Amino acid sequence: MDKDKKEALVIGGGIAGMSAALGLASNDIQVTLIERAPNIGGYGARFCCKASEECNKCSVCLINHKLDEIATHPGITILTNSEIKELKKSGEGFEVKLDHRPGFVDVSKCIACGICEEKCPTEPKAIGLPQPQSIPNSYYIDEAKCLRFQGKDCKICQDVCPVKAVNLKEEVRESSLEVDSIIVATGFKPFDPTRKKQYGYGRIANVITGLELEEQFRFKGSLTRPSDGKEPKSVAFIQCVGSRDIRQENSYCSRYCCAFAMRSARLIRNRMPEAEVSIFYMDLQTAGKGFYEFYEKVQTEVDFIHAMPGNLEETPAQVVVIGYEDIAGSKIGQKEFDLVVLSVGITPDDDSVKLAELLGIKVGDNGFYQILSSNGSLRAADGAIFLAGACQGPKDINSSVVQGMRAAEEVVSLLNRL
Ligand SMILES: Cc1cc2nc3c(=O)[nH]c(=O)nc-3n(C[C@H](O)[C@H](O)[C@H](O)COP(=O)(O)OP(=O)(O)OC[C@H]3O[C@@H](n4cnc5c(N)ncnc54)[C@H](O)[C@@H]3O)c2cc1C
Repeated sequence: MDKDKKEALVIGGGIAGMSAALGLASNDIQVTLIERAPNIGGYGARFCCKASEECNKCSVCLINHKLDEIATHPGITILTNSEIKELKKSGEGFEVKLDHRPGFVDVSKCIACGICEEKCPTEPKAIGLPQPQSIPNSYYIDEAKCLRFQGKDCKICQDVCPVKAVNLKEEVRESSLEVDSIIVATGFKPFDPTRKKQYGYGRIANVITGLELEEQFRFKGSLTRPSDGKEPKSVAFIQCVGSRDIRQENSYCSRYCCAFAMRSARLIRNRMPEAEVSIFYMDLQTAGKGFYEFYEKVQTEVDFIHAMPGNLEETPAQVVVIGYEDIAGSKIGQKEFDLVVLSVGITPDDDSVKLAELLGIKVGDNGFYQILSSNGSLRAADGAIFLAGACQGPKDINSSVVQGMRAAEEVVSLLNRL
């Protein structure tokens, strides 16, 4: 590393962290980006493009572009399976200790040939890519599935690897680095839908989450019912699952869900023109340039039902029955659907409080990280620590990109003054 250069640490490799890292690196700041998962991209790397006959502006392509750009950027070192362990002030900057969990495959050697996966005797396979087209494009071992970590004497993957990338004896490793500034971009966790028992997630086969819809379209290219693998002829979205819900202590709006449901509804109608799509909603957030016009267009293709769903039930043919109360007229109704999609909200990550304590940043009432002042700065602590993305509050991809870039700009201008 060039010691004359300023250095920054970005924590979290989702769209906000990638945008921040690229913003810093393009200003000649050396960046280390740490990601606790085996691959970067965050949730967005699991989403599908929602274009119908036209682009529906879901912004998922931004993530794909940033992944391509960051993977080969000489000014950015990406460390996956890595988390921060200790932080100490050091002059104007920080001394940071990192923990690197073993993935048992050397990312710099793996050529993703797939021989290890083919020969792995477990089902599902214990070794594989974290997801198709993952960055880094390297295999890793899931200890929970691997025979070796259940006490059996298996080392087939290590023996068959043609480039000797597999090391089953790899252990947790520590490293340290000095940085001038830190951007925290640790994102969010989708609301756990089993907390809303009435919607039957986990009990009714054909009730899925928005994330599962995204993954089906992205990795399989189609949407099918979990119960029989058939394309649904009718699909319902239920909005605000875990958002604007005082009983779940999440009274805030998750900001992405209205647009997500409308864009996904258009995608479904485009791929399966015969399918009927309904959206059950409390109230719609149609703010944003051109979004009201978009909503008017979607209204011609989709049935918007202004109602609160009650209990969901399943018929013997595994059709989902939604009982609901109409909000305007207080009428009670019932409708049947082949598939129901829960638009789950955005909640703080499970480890957010632990990390906040380690970094000395504040957590707000709703569990998201707080910026220090209301003057527009993204600074989160007296030292040079800044926030970006959904760790600071619910956001869509566009706002996460903008905030990542703004955090980078603040770091650049601060470090230029030192
Ligand atoms: C079902 C669903 C569908 C959506 N669809 C859309 C859409 O179509 N369009 C749109 O604009 N928005 C959509 N969104 C919103 C979108 O997901 C967010 O705007 C975006 O993911 C926020 O990016 P982020 O980088 O802040 O967070 P994340 O995507 O959560 O990325 C954070 C990253 O940080 C890592 N991390 C967390 N803690 C640590 C740690 N301690 N150390 C190291 N790494 C850590 C995580 O592993 C993760 O990779 C959707 C959300 C959901 C739930």
